[in-house]
Amino acid sequence: MQWSDVRIAFIIIPTKGRTHRRRRDRTSAKAMTTSIDAAAADEDPRRISHHALSVDDSLIRLEARRHEGLSAAEVQARLAVHGRNALPPPPRSGPLLRFLLQFHNVLIHVLLVAGAITLLLGHLVDAGVIFGVVVINAFIGFLQEGKAERALDAIRDMLSPRAQVLRDGHRQEIDAEELVPGDIVFLASGDKVPADLRLIEVRSLRIEEAVLTGESLAVTKATAAVEAGAALGDRRSMAYSGTLVAYGQGVGVVVATGTRTEIGRISTMLGAVRTLSTPLLRQMEGFSRVLTWIILGVAAAAFVFGIALRGYGAAEMFLAAVGLAVAAIPEGLPAIITITLAIGVQRMARRRAIIRRLPAVEALGSVTVICSDKTGTLTRNEMAVQRVLTGDGRIDVSGAGYAPHGGFERGGRDLEPAEAPLLTDIGRVALLCNDAELRLDDGEWRVLGDPTEGALLTLALKAGVDPKLCREEWPRDDVIPFESEHRFMATLHHDHAGRARVFVKGAPERVLALCVDAGALDGGARPLDVGAWERAMAEAAGEGMRLLALAVRSAGGPLAALSFDDIERGGFTLLAVLGISDPPRAEAVQAVANCLAAGIRVKMITGDHAATAQAIGEQLGLARDVQTITGAEIEAMDDARLAEVVCDTEIFARASPEHKLRLVEALQARGEVVAMTGDGVNDAPALKRADVGVAMGHKGTEAAKEAAEMVLADDNFASVAAAVEEGRIVYDNLKKTAAYILPTNIGQAGIVFFAVLFGVTMPITPPQILWVNMITAVTLALALAFEDGEHDLMRRPPRDPGEPLLTRFLLWRIVFVGLLLVAGGMGAFLWEQAHGASVAAARTAAVNAVLAGEVFYLFNMRSFTASVLNRDGFCGNRYVLGAIALLVLCQILFTHLPAMQRLFGTEALDPAAWLRILAFGVAVLLIVEAEKALLRVRARLAGRGDH
Ligand code: ATP
Repeated sequence: MQWSDVRIAFIIIPTKGRTHRRRRDRTSAKAMTTSIDAAAADEDPRRISHHALSVDDSLIRLEARRHEGLSAAEVQARLAVHGRNALPPPPRSGPLLRFLLQFHNVLIHVLLVAGAITLLLGHLVDAGVIFGVVVINAFIGFLQEGKAERALDAIRDMLSPRAQVLRDGHRQEIDAEELVPGDIVFLASGDKVPADLRLIEVRSLRIEEAVLTGESLAVTKATAAVEAGAALGDRRSMAYSGTLVAYGQGVGVVVATGTRTEIGRISTMLGAVRTLSTPLLRQMEGFSRVLTWIILGVAAAAFVFGIALRGYGAAEMFLAAVGLAVAAIPEGLPAIITITLAIGVQRMARRRAIIRRLPAVEALGSVTVICSDKTGTLTRNEMAVQRVLTGDGRIDVSGAGYAPHGGFERGGRDLEPAEAPLLTDIGRVALLCNDAELRLDDGEWRVLGDPTEGALLTLALKAGVDPKLCREEWPRDDVIPFESEHRFMATLHHDHAGRARVFVKGAPERVLALCVDAGALDGGARPLDVGAWERAMAEAAGEGMRLLALAVRSAGGPLAALSFDDIERGGFTLLAVLGISDPPRAEAVQAVANCLAAGIRVKMITGDHAATAQAIGEQLGLARDVQTITGAEIEAMDDARLAEVVCDTEIFARASPEHKLRLVEALQARGEVVAMTGDGVNDAPALKRADVGVAMGHKGTEAAKEAAEMVLADDNFASVAAAVEEGRIVYDNLKKTAAYILPTNIGQAGIVFFAVLFGVTMPITPPQILWVNMITAVTLALALAFEDGEHDLMRRPPRDPGEPLLTRFLLWRIVFVGLLLVAGGMGAFLWEQAHGASVAAARTAAVNAVLAGEVFYLFNMRSFTASVLNRDGFCGNRYVLGAIALLVLCQILFTHLPAMQRLFGTEALDPAAWLRILAFGVAVLLIVEAEKALLRVRARLAGRGDH
């Protein structure tokens, strides 16, 4: 097994949307482009060139309906004909090759050479056992690797994307695999296009088609037909499966799914292969190279020493040197590291954090700062309009959630919507300048779309607005969708009298700047008292409410489309500012406290108003009376100044995605290890730059997910904190397994070394050594991969990312326990011999003594420094008990079964010998516990507790 076996090269198959793995298949984008052109040239004549058809022709050919979509029956029929919208998984390297790769490790090479020479020297049994153990080890590595890969596969399957479609007249979200030709699909910025689409509507739609064409600049899309012979990159009327929506919105009709998509046709040569190796695995690879040379050096020295000074024969000494080498080689360690990482990934998935790239598992353990979005991550994202600020004063709104039940109150008195016509106007604008939908599912009101907009729909219903009537009365002609950068959304409508209106909703400072007066939809406008509005807004924001302003303007003449200039022209009438509550998640409050206790700073980066952010930050326990920096202030700072203030600021308000990138860089410049959350397409650069980019599973765009190392299944900050905790556990467990396995090697190599040094009979033979190495690695050490984490795990400061896996403390522990095992093995051998036992029986006692020491040391290693002399210490990990039971069974067979006796040269032991062996094991336990107690005292005196 190779250290780098956890390297997983995987490609992204966008149609299926899952990441499938393929080994070492690197294809350049250029090569792809060429062949795409070739593919386009010999276009299948049966395929219709939808890009060259008009929208209507395309819809007719596909028997699709723009405004209703397909019916459920049509979908079923088409699914039967076209199959699911998925690509077959790419072929993997065969099992034989994967098995052979297990031998590709320098430590194993040394063992193979040792085995070959042992064979040449005529020691058939010894050579047989060496080869046997190497093969068994490879087989175990092969099985474990398979398990690890399956675990990662299953986790990646959790990330299959969804698509927004129109079916039976309703917009709905479905698994992208269920798309069929003729489906009407909605696209928004950040989406991955789920199938090949003929675009039928676009709104500033730009698509990044690098996967298909190699062109990294986003292409602006349109609905007009293009020439039939246009190259793929020039077909602006199409959106191709697997490409990413960089900006804007669009609607398209599916023309091809699965293997019939452009990407499906070239999938056998799809690029974007990423080979993964974690920093730790690279560290271990280097370690194993160094170790090999040390082992070979010591073995050669022993060989020369034995012949020159002890007068052994060359053949005999060679066997001893082989014994030394095989004793020292930790051949089981790579497999254990792999499986420990894989177990960590699975545990994280159980806690709703899905790892996309393996190095994140390690990086998570050393995170020092988590930068988190506010809305939906730290807060519940269950929005409700609580307050309506108007020119006539404040109106409070009652009711909870999205249910349209509740009423209005002004100055402590109930207010009927009929009494306040302005409320109806506000409801209308809230409903019309809105892309969300409310649904009553199983008695529960849910939002389809943006929760902020959902809250506005509920307000409209509470204000007595009939959505259907209102939309018919004021049909929408155009829209500028909401984007975090410009912080507003605008829609253009006309009524039956031909009057056109522009409605705007957005961040108050943005909208207020566009307004000239305040009033209702039709007349009654008064001058804008900016001071009074700002005071009312500051009060609401101080209570943690999100603020959203609504404004209206007559279009002043016929207008077919909206442009940014139309909005920036201003001249709007402010209708209201809405105060929307979005309380913190209870579990986020707890998670923030846990992070702070673990020495991890939590920073909130939000697009919301500074006062809102500050209030929520206080409710979350982030910090009290701390300074809040706004996006505008970030822009005014140079990098050096930002790096100065970034560590002492916990809240960044009115921040846009590009500020996130600068913040990550500033934090990294200060030596911090940063985890950063994000969801939008523009968050991708910051997510990529962060040490651990974290994307939201629900509201996150595909673009953000692809840039991230980790995806949160529940969009919850608590899951980030949980992943950090698991990251620390994994790293601890890796340290524990290494610190557990290596003393066995030192112990046995030491026994051989001292035997040569003092010229005594070899207390343990090469086959026996290999047996001990293998049996400890597959039973005992594996149990440590399942450890749950020590009680002080989240009270320690974060690990220094530059710290080696084997710290000085661990090296000391390894050598210390190694020497204890030397003493036990040698002692057992010499004692038995001195009391008349045969060499074989004395060797059997030595092997069992070493293993008894290992069994009890396993309890010690459940904690680095805390005592395990308690119930939890012995019974806290059922895998430990299971592994010990298995080992005891194996040792009884090893000692008493005639076949094993013949193979390993062992002999049965009497009960007294077993008792002495047991006593040695208990002694190891107590001695290491005594060492820990000393360390604890020393740490207390020094005021710290490091390992
Ligand atoms: P976070 O970055 O923590 O998720 P956020 O969701 O509040 O915070 P944005 O989505 O960028 O940040 O919103 C910033 C501001 O834009 C909000 O305070 C609100 O005033 C306004 N806003 C939010 N959603 C919409 C929308 N759908 N339409 C119009 N304006 C909106």
